[in-house]
Amino acid sequence: MPFTPANRPHPDSEASQAMHILVGAMNVHVIDLGHGDDPFDVPDTEGLFLGTRDGRPVYGHDAEPDMGMPLMGLYGRLDEEAWTIAGRAVQMIEWRRTHRYCGRCATETEPAPPPNDRAMRCPVCGLLAFPRLAPAIIVLVTREEDGKALLARGSNFPVPMYSCLAGFVEPGESMEQAVHREVFEEVGITLKEVKYWGSQPWPFPHSLMLGFTATYAGGDVVLDESEILDAQWHGPDDLPMIPPGMSIARRLIDAWSQGNT
Ligand SMILES: [Zn+2]
Repeated sequence: MPFTPANRPHPDSEASQAMHILVGAMNVHVIDLGHGDDPFDVPDTEGLFLGTRDGRPVYGHDAEPDMGMPLMGLYGRLDEEAWTIAGRAVQMIEWRRTHRYCGRCATETEPAPPPNDRAMRCPVCGLLAFPRLAPAIIVLVTREEDGKALLARGSNFPVPMYSCLAGFVEPGESMEQAVHREVFEEVGITLKEVKYWGSQPWPFPHSLMLGFTATYAGGDVVLDESEILDAQWHGPDDLPMIPPGMSIARRLIDAWSQGNT
């Protein structure tokens, strides 16, 4: 059975087979008792229950900052589902760490009772703080005349990598409006045929990537140089360095270059 999120362990779940995810400062260390890891390595702190995988409970733990490996570096070392679960643990533990006090009255918060038991609650003023999630759009823009895709090098990329355009959805905005706005802001072009493609949790640190495809409608490419160093139209046979396989950006680019978008 795939991972099933829940707030409380099922009475029949096997604690002796649990998966424990220790979260440092965006680093993780996984102790999987179901795969032979040593139970003496499990911290004696009460973990945050995250859900069940194959009938086995999964817990996140707040660990020392230098514990484990960067989550990004664990991709490929863990199976895809375990990596996604580790990402969930990072987001939940980091959120608990940063919501220890009420944002309205500064009282120490406590876990909220059901039905809001994913939230932290202020015992004085009742403010509920739910896990934080920042939706971001990512869009692969192609043009009709030659089928090429517009790939851009972001100013924050540490390597000369080219990817889809992306940005956060703003309050009061639909996903589609965010696609039009971000693309116009970053490269100055307008779009048509904006279509939802798929999504991906992106725990760096708490995004949800919403993938779109779109077709170029008009305008010249003019870069917002504070965000984009370069943007070029590329065909499937002349791709620059593109993002690694874990990202929805890569999946969008692969689907297009293989003719599946
Ligand atoms: Zn309060």
